[in-house]
Amino acid sequence: MKIWLDGNLQEASENRISGMTHALHYRTGVFEGIRSYAGVEESYLFRLEDHVDRLFDSAKTLRMSVPFSKTEIESAVQQVLVVNNLSNAYVRPLIFVGEGSMSLDIASSRASNSIHTLVAAWEWKSYFCEATAAGLNVQIGPWKRIFQTSGLNKVKASGFYVNSYLAYADAREAGYDEAILVEENGNLAEASASNVFIVAGTTLITPRTTAALPGITRSTIIEIARDNGFGVEIRDISIEEISQADHAFLTGTACEVTPIARINGKSSGNRTGAGVTRALAVMYQKAVRNEYMPIMRSATSEWCTPLGRNARVSERRDRIAFTE
Ligand code: PMP
Repeated sequence: MKIWLDGNLQEASENRISGMTHALHYRTGVFEGIRSYAGVEESYLFRLEDHVDRLFDSAKTLRMSVPFSKTEIESAVQQVLVVNNLSNAYVRPLIFVGEGSMSLDIASSRASNSIHTLVAAWEWKSYFCEATAAGLNVQIGPWKRIFQTSGLNKVKASGFYVNSYLAYADAREAGYDEAILVEENGNLAEASASNVFIVAGTTLITPRTTAALPGITRSTIIEIARDNGFGVEIRDISIEEISQADHAFLTGTACEVTPIARINGKSSGNRTGAGVTRALAVMYQKAVRNEYMPIMRSATSEWCTPLGRNARVSERRDRIAFTE
């Protein structure tokens, strides 16, 4: 397995990262998760440009100046897939603070910490195991999503994932498959590494992104739903509302569209609602392979970057990341 580190492809087993790496101590890193899919004729990276934009926005918030351009990172993503002969894969770009000052003050001009850029890729068929992917048993609360007033929820920073890690660990230890974290006011925020939707008749409802990451899959599902005549509401969802909803599901690059079958130990949803989730999941699987034909307009070709080509060199008419 080869990874791309600071401009060079090398065997992962040959990487030497110092124990004095700043990010190891303080979690000063930002990352992305991108999926590639084998289509009928070509393989594609799904929304590559949007993921790389979010990576750079996250780095900026952490005062890290990335030593590569967005196009260079996109090219690194392509190289890692090609060199490892991967087409259905998960790609992980990570930018992190390396050796230098061990104080927190790396933004100061006196500190000269190195900034490292890494891209790895691996096969990751299903985020949840096959049995649970048929319908998750989720625990909602007691964990709260942190950083909800400061805008930091938009940042995919390594350090923030301790919050997700602990919520998930608690849920697993209590016998659940996944945790949904709540906002300060008790309404739903998001799951440990995915966004949440509920189905109410022919309307989808998802929380605002005051405490949740504005997921790229979330925005894709919103787009697909609107294209196909579903209503979309972006507003608070209480635990009572999700428990009584026609159905609920999670969205994320890794877990794609994963249905929820049980909430806090009780079975949830109904067959009609589950049918809506299934229809959206099918359309999502088409979209990621450049096979989705929107009824109302054509956006798909701009979501899929063929393997071996950079997103930024192709003309894009319409940027839709994070629009609601
Ligand atoms: N929330 C969190 C906390 C996540 O880690 C992820 C995965 N990136 C998501 C939501 C879903 O985001 P996306 O659809 O962009 O993968």
